[in-house]
Amino acid sequence: MKAVADLKRDVCAVIDARADSLRGVAEEVLHHPELGFKEHATAALVSARFRELGLAHRTGLAITGVKAVLDTGRPGPTVAVFGELDSILVRGHACADAVTGAAHACGHNAQIATLLGVASALAETDVLSSLSGRVALIAVPAEEYVEIEYRLGLREKGMIEFLGGKPELIRLGELDDVDMAMMVHTTTNPEEGRASIPPSLNGCLAKFIQFTGRAAHAGGMPHKGINALNAAMLALSAIHAQRETFRDEDTVRVHPIITKGGELVNVVPADVKMETFVRGKTVAAMLDAERKVDRALRAGALAVGAKLRITTLAGYLPYETDPAFAELYRANALSLVGESGWGQAHHHTGSSDMGDISQIMPAVQPSAGGATGASHGADFTIVDLETAVQVPAKAMAMTLVDLLADDAANARRVLAETKPKMSKAEYLAMMRRMTREALYEEA
Ligand SMILES: [Zn+2]
Ligand SMILES: [Zn+2]
Repeated sequence: MKAVADLKRDVCAVIDARADSLRGVAEEVLHHPELGFKEHATAALVSARFRELGLAHRTGLAITGVKAVLDTGRPGPTVAVFGELDSILVRGHACADAVTGAAHACGHNAQIATLLGVASALAETDVLSSLSGRVALIAVPAEEYVEIEYRLGLREKGMIEFLGGKPELIRLGELDDVDMAMMVHTTTNPEEGRASIPPSLNGCLAKFIQFTGRAAHAGGMPHKGINALNAAMLALSAIHAQRETFRDEDTVRVHPIITKGGELVNVVPADVKMETFVRGKTVAAMLDAERKVDRALRAGALAVGAKLRITTLAGYLPYETDPAFAELYRANALSLVGESGWGQAHHHTGSSDMGDISQIMPAVQPSAGGATGASHGADFTIVDLETAVQVPAKAMAMTLVDLLADDAANARRVLAETKPKMSKAEYLAMMRRMTREALYEEA
């Protein structure tokens, strides 16, 4: 068995040797952005690369997920490395798909290249022969929780139950054989440096909202109509009136959009649809805020006599970094970027389904720099693929070595030090409790 330092040198050498190929992957995915649960071309690319590396794998998990398991043949924990397949939708982005508007304005294209960098490091060296346990390399669908109405349609067809990729993989049992997981996400925040680890992320609930009014001639006889858009407008104002009640420490975020505001300008809007997230640092904060949001929605409907349907959907649970796991990653990333490259990451008010993972097993989601502009903005650009792909690929491969060398002593220690916040059964029960539909007809 080789020494840990030699194993780390070997994995880094392969990732360096594959730098051009990994840059090519990041570029190719950038130019073929696909929204969640539709990432067929991106999944096919991952599958083709796994095949080239001789990695047996399964496809079509939670519609588009791809999973390869590398077994050392010796007993020990299984560590998962994730890469997210999906893009966001930003029509003004320079690399947006001309038809769909999808664009990689969240940097997930770098994640796919990083995942394949780790795959090369394990498949093109003999490091596995010095490790114990297993590594699961998983390209996951649908991290961005978007297109709620479309995904409700998938749910109705029985194709999904939850609207995010990792919750679906948990539900399907695809993570039953995984003990701990890591994934690196791109950041544009200069304070976070070339590498850093946020301690926590907000969780979120999602709501699909439908106000139903009555159509009538908008000029000739509006008194015969019930204006569902006015109900939505009042509901939005009522939501804003809740904001002074949100505590700073709960980092609540509520950001509704109207996805359908009417159909024809000379008809009183009778069918108005909204989507919103209700985010918070804790589940209790999320539930407190969503109670107020529901009240505000009902107030809008009540004022004009519209009907209201609120479909509440489990979103993502709050994320917490596992300290012992994170320390291993930090030491490896520091060896690559130095003290000057290590940044300060604070609590993130966005959400991710790595939160769900972190509730049921030790997890770490470090940040990688190398991007500029606004995340989810038209100006988001990865300008430094060395920092956005090479560094996280090497840091994760080295962390796998640390975890699984010496009979997987470090992985066993991380697992011994961390008690999962909930079991898979408890997680699924909580997600299902959060999911419900309510109809109001209060006029
Ligand atoms: Zn995003
Ligand atoms: Zn993202």
